[in-house]
Amino acid sequence: MQNTEQNWDCVIIGGGIAGLIASIYLARAEKSVLILEKAKTLGGRGRTTVKMDSYLNLGPHALYSKGLAIETLRELGIELEGGIVPTRGKMIHNGEIFDIPASPFILVTSTLLNWNAKKELLSFFLKYKKMKTDGFKNVPLAQWLQHRIKDKLARNLILMLSRLSSYSDESDRLSAGAAIKQLQLGNAMYLNKGWQSMIDALINKAVEFGVQFQTVKHVNKVTGSFPDLSVQTNKEIIYAKNVLSTSSPQETSKLLKEYKCTPEFIKKDYIPVHAACLDLVLSKVPNPNIDFAMGVEDPFYFSNHSKIAKLSNQDHQVIHVMKYGISNQETEKELEEFMEIVQPGWEEFVIYKRYLPRMTVSNRLVLASNDDEVSPLVSQIPGFYIAGDWVGDAMLAEASFQSGRKAAQFILEKFSIKVV
Ligand SMILES: Cc1cc2nc3c(=O)[nH]c(=O)nc-3n(C[C@H](O)[C@H](O)[C@H](O)COP(=O)(O)OP(=O)(O)OC[C@H]3O[C@@H](n4cnc5c(N)ncnc54)[C@H](O)[C@@H]3O)c2cc1C
Repeated sequence: MQNTEQNWDCVIIGGGIAGLIASIYLARAEKSVLILEKAKTLGGRGRTTVKMDSYLNLGPHALYSKGLAIETLRELGIELEGGIVPTRGKMIHNGEIFDIPASPFILVTSTLLNWNAKKELLSFFLKYKKMKTDGFKNVPLAQWLQHRIKDKLARNLILMLSRLSSYSDESDRLSAGAAIKQLQLGNAMYLNKGWQSMIDALINKAVEFGVQFQTVKHVNKVTGSFPDLSVQTNKEIIYAKNVLSTSSPQETSKLLKEYKCTPEFIKKDYIPVHAACLDLVLSKVPNPNIDFAMGVEDPFYFSNHSKIAKLSNQDHQVIHVMKYGISNQETEKELEEFMEIVQPGWEEFVIYKRYLPRMTVSNRLVLASNDDEVSPLVSQIPGFYIAGDWVGDAMLAEASFQSGRKAAQFILEKFSIKVV
């Protein structure tokens, strides 16, 4: 095993969004930063693959117009190109297609909803954007809605919208406060050339400030404490004053097996959010009138991302179909059947098809049960920090952005430099 002499100001485990964000804030404050990534390429779950001259994210990915991600990117001087997804589309109820009541006109003229449902939905749509969510963060979403919305179909419709923004179909456990906060993040934005354009912009920024990267480096163990931490990879031992892990909670806890103490974050329960994805490139869509659809009761999603963002050099249609939750043997067929409802005869136009049965959308469902947020600061191990979509009080990539930035802030505070 080889030893490298340099004692880095910070070694970051993982080159996904959280790792890249932290690296930029640290390096622009002139700290020496090394990212170790076990995969061949950086980007983690934010990567995009190019198939048939078209750009496919790993399942459907969107940023939120009022979210932390866009705010942080702006703060770093990164402006991305893409399109805002309009609030309209179709919903499938008992196999029939209806308009999503995204405007007061569609709501009032809906043939699906009765008058009570319309009244309750209208009142909810007028109020939810201004709700203070802290007061009901410990109540499960299903229970919270049960008390407010009497009409079952109206409730299911709100649950459908919450699935869309939180990616979670677990309304019995999901925090109502977190779900509504996520709904408040505004319209979705799809990026031209997929999320890779964001990952590439972050990598360029990191390189500009002098961040070093090593790929195909699997970190197995971390020992020591500030300012003498050792990071053992599959190839060598690397020394650092601080170490930030952006791996999953389970893998991060394995890295710390030699410590006698059990940090608080290891004692918590993490329920991952899963989804099964059917990613498609079609030469054309049989029904160009439907760009977006969701099941009201059944947890399915369909979106033609290429209608909003530039995702193909050949004018192909890039489509993501998804089922929320854990998949089984039937799931791929169910996704194809959902596709058949919205785009009958689609199979004739397939030029590329990929099924991803068990994607970890997020490492942590935000639970209603007094689920205190995890801090990036691991106080029991001086110099060791955590970040990722399971750290902090936000959800999905929003949490990775938030915790990556906050972890850098904690580390810089140690060097007495504030993130500006
Ligand atoms: C289908 C799907 C749809 C999604 N849609 C959205 C969306 O619309 N909006 C949104 O905000 N979020 C979405 N997400 C979530 C978003 O992709 C993730 O939250 C975000 O990319 C996580 O970034 P991260 O850096 O925290 O973790 P990761 O991307 O998982 O990065 C961690 C990195 O660490 C590396 N690593 C792990 N262990 C080690 C080790 N021991 N040694 C070295 N390297 C290691 C991994 O290889 C990985 O590259 C979606 C996710 C999926 C799967």
